[in-house]
Amino acid sequence: MNPTEANQTLIGPFSQILTMDNLPVAGPIADAQLQVLEQGGVLVQGEKIVKTGKYTQLHREAIEHKYKLELIREPMVLLPGLVDAHTHMCFAGSRANDYALRVAGKSYLEIARSGGGILDSVRKTREASVVELTELLKKRCDRHLAEGVTTCEVKSGYGLTVDDELKMLEVIGLVNRHHELDLVPTCLAAHMLPPEFTDANVYLEHVLSELLPEVLEQNLANRVDIFIEDTAFKEDAAISYLLAARDLGFDITVHADQFSTGGSRVAVEAGAVSADHLEASTEAEIALMQEAGTVATVLPGASLGLGMHYAPARQMLDGGLCLAIATDWNPGSAPMGDLLLQAALLGAAEKLTIAETLAAVTLRAARALNLTDRGKIAKGKLADMIAFPTDNYKEILYFQGKLKPKIIWKKGHRV
Ligand SMILES: [Zn+2]
Repeated sequence: MNPTEANQTLIGPFSQILTMDNLPVAGPIADAQLQVLEQGGVLVQGEKIVKTGKYTQLHREAIEHKYKLELIREPMVLLPGLVDAHTHMCFAGSRANDYALRVAGKSYLEIARSGGGILDSVRKTREASVVELTELLKKRCDRHLAEGVTTCEVKSGYGLTVDDELKMLEVIGLVNRHHELDLVPTCLAAHMLPPEFTDANVYLEHVLSELLPEVLEQNLANRVDIFIEDTAFKEDAAISYLLAARDLGFDITVHADQFSTGGSRVAVEAGAVSADHLEASTEAEIALMQEAGTVATVLPGASLGLGMHYAPARQMLDGGLCLAIATDWNPGSAPMGDLLLQAALLGAAEKLTIAETLAAVTLRAARALNLTDRGKIAKGKLADMIAFPTDNYKEILYFQGKLKPKIIWKKGHRV
């Protein structure tokens, strides 16, 4: 036996494998463009996929070379593991009071004045110990992984002091090292102006000089995010902050166009990998992002939580954008954190094809995180795969997120 072939495992047969391979990285996708391998199998070695193909063919090879067999005994559809490209999953406390006030018709400002809002999460996250925060994040990761999310971005942003932001990023790193779910940390110290500061420029200068060099030094994150909105940071302050962060070597992502436009223009000017939210984006913003190749990450969970309209996802795809869908999992506007369910609801409302919705939570979501080693079932990619108990891939979104994956592989290992 060729030693490079040792320890290969054949997994299958699957009723269908959606490889998500050979799809355009941006713009519309018809379901006919999906590569659907009927009665397929996957050869895995270590963390990676070696080959996909017809199960009968691969089975002959496996017997000949004495590969291990991992037999799938019921009808299953295989998909790449889901990628959640935008979350605030590291937090302490609940904002159920905010929710009660919001559905009773109270405004954002009234809720903030009654002790709610982002600063409430900041207070509770600052008070929480590393052990407490780690435990909370770990439990959320357990749930995400069980629901098929194998890679997940997690932001800081409830610390808003140098020490508390570092604490959050350390917690994210700690959980990443000990959990099978891959976490991608992002520094969101520019989530909002902390109570200790009155001037946004002074605060952002402080973050640039005191926090970001430490984040690099300790290798805690290579992405920087900012919330651009009149209630958070304005465009002028944001652009100089982001350009300076980029000069330090960070990838840029932006909370943009949630309630008003302007953020996506900053994202484009700063060379951001992605602009996220985009509920308020119009044709003009879409054209800017298309020209710059900025990934549009939309967050239906926040629309659901706030009772507002979705981002114009159909228009974005027709305008040639790379569309990713993420949960925005956070204690305020998006506590649900169910990626598949939210993607299915958005797809139905915005008339996205099944191919477009599934691409937005796999390969295109990986692109939003600048990750090229996952998001499709193809040679050389990580063996992050999820199997749904059905023989028809169309049922995955048809059941609106209630059909969950039954088997999950992370880096070739069954979890
Ligand atoms: Zn967010």
